[in-house]
Amino acid sequence: MTNPSIPLGESRNKDNKNRPLIGWLWRIYLKPQRVWLGIAILLMAIEGSMLGALSYIVQPMFDQVFIAGDRAAVGWVALAIGMIFVVRAVSAFGHRVLMQGAGLRIITSMQKDMVAHLVTLDSRFFQSNPPGTLIERVRGDTTAANNIWAVVLGVVGRDVVSLIALLAVAISVDWLWTLIAIAGAPLLLGPVVALQRYVRKRTFAARDAAARLSNRLDEIFHGINTIKLNTSETRENDRFGSNAGAYLKQEMHARVGQAAIPAMTDFVAAIGFAGVLVYGGNQIIDGDKTVGEFMSFFTAMGLIFEPLRRVANVTGAWQAARASLERIQDIFEAAPTITSPATPKPAIASPENADIALDNVVVRYGTEPALNGASFTAKAGKTTALVGASGAGKSTVFNVLTRLVDPSEGVITINDTKSTDLGLADLRALYSVVTQDAPMFDESLRDNIILNTKDVTDEALANAVEAAHLTEVVANLPMGLESPAGPRGSALSGGQRQRVAIARALLRNAPVLLLDEATSALDAQSEVRVQAALDDLARNRTTLVIAHRLSTIRNADKIVVMDKGRVVDEGRHEELLDRGGVYAGLYALQFSET
Ligand code: ADP
Ligand code: MG
Repeated sequence: MTNPSIPLGESRNKDNKNRPLIGWLWRIYLKPQRVWLGIAILLMAIEGSMLGALSYIVQPMFDQVFIAGDRAAVGWVALAIGMIFVVRAVSAFGHRVLMQGAGLRIITSMQKDMVAHLVTLDSRFFQSNPPGTLIERVRGDTTAANNIWAVVLGVVGRDVVSLIALLAVAISVDWLWTLIAIAGAPLLLGPVVALQRYVRKRTFAARDAAARLSNRLDEIFHGINTIKLNTSETRENDRFGSNAGAYLKQEMHARVGQAAIPAMTDFVAAIGFAGVLVYGGNQIIDGDKTVGEFMSFFTAMGLIFEPLRRVANVTGAWQAARASLERIQDIFEAAPTITSPATPKPAIASPENADIALDNVVVRYGTEPALNGASFTAKAGKTTALVGASGAGKSTVFNVLTRLVDPSEGVITINDTKSTDLGLADLRALYSVVTQDAPMFDESLRDNIILNTKDVTDEALANAVEAAHLTEVVANLPMGLESPAGPRGSALSGGQRQRVAIARALLRNAPVLLLDEATSALDAQSEVRVQAALDDLARNRTTLVIAHRLSTIRNADKIVVMDKGRVVDEGRHEELLDRGGVYAGLYALQFSET
């Protein structure tokens, strides 16, 4: 299991050669395509064997047509050569189409599986692995990895058959010539192994660099207005440029390494060619061999180059694909730590009467605790306000309640049931959360409000829109509720987004309401009205509110004062003021002018 706080790239043992990569690939991705792959291999074998046939036909072409001058043979030799090329063309077209189809289907199903797995991972995982790098793994690595099938199967299906057919022709002409021709091959072993290791290392570095590149793009496009307002375009261009340069360098090294492997076969071939020419040439001069035999042999040896080069290339291509495949496997190996228990307790009965208690809760993001032994209770049907300076740990309380993070110590109970004993879906169904930043999706306003709430009637939707003071906003949009919210809700103002989030919470109608500065982005006028809607919603419901407005805090049934991750005081407004502690200080700073 991978620690969710450690970025993927760093947790990986890059020399872990014992991963069951092939078994995994076969079981999940290749097996479903086996029929198509099988037919493709068959077609490749047909294409491959045509090279053997071609070199074979060279012998009668020379000996019977050119040398013996048999006119009758011209016709059938020409026809045979024509047939060879037609069969080759048709089989090559067929296997290319099948391979492309299988490759694309494998990429798509890998991407779907990756996304389905990624959304189960802890929120923390997404902090140490930023969006751009994950996008690169889901899109870039699946594509890079799956280029390998065409290469590997091409080699297995076509090139190995070509090699065997061409070798058979060569051996049938003269086994000793063949032996001389391939005598240099063992020399390749050492350098090829070294090159493979080099390619693998460089490809890993190149894929990491590609991920950093995607991340830069993500940050530039999301932060475009900040970049403009700080006139930092040049700075961003430079940063992107240097990342792109780093990627280019690694990718170049990887490709040079890949190209060097097949090039080395040429050296060995040169030795073999020269050897056969010297030995065989003398045999022909002596009359021991015919010119046709010699030409047939040399055609076979000439044609053997291409498939041989591709066979040599397969190891480099595999090393490159493997870097991507291992990066994909890293994702599947990352396991969520925040999960439903094996045997979850049944959902809380009558959750509208849910008492919530934190007992000695410690939460650490890094080394410093964000909550450092926080304890308090929020009574059913009452409003509990959390106050404290920025960074005191208020939002973190909401995150542990909803299990976006788990505490390292302490427990949270809902009507005496531990929150970790409940199924995650049951736990999260207890809460409606409205946060400061009100995240939205690039869908219609209607879809943004409904999200995953089931069986929403038009009436309920209209009521939620009305209560969140969105009616006027919607009326002024050209397409009303069907208007697009824009990427991350960018078509709406901050206040409008917050009202959409409030409408979402109203519609969700969960028993416990968590409001994290839910009206912070509203203007004074709409704040008063939305606050009224939230007050309605909060009535008879367990509510926890992090607020900056004095009236909300003053009306709360209980105020919990937080400082540096601890609860330092609790009570009602007047009591706390009288006591004159942290709360009185906050009050003087924040609310004195209200
Ligand atoms: P508040 O909501 O009271 O302003 P938070 O609960 O958001 O405070 O944060 C409490 C502390 O935890 C702060 O010091 C903050 O820097 C830190 N913190 C909050 N969220 C994260 C996070 N995701 N990763 C690392 N540190 C965090
Ligand atoms: Mg906060």
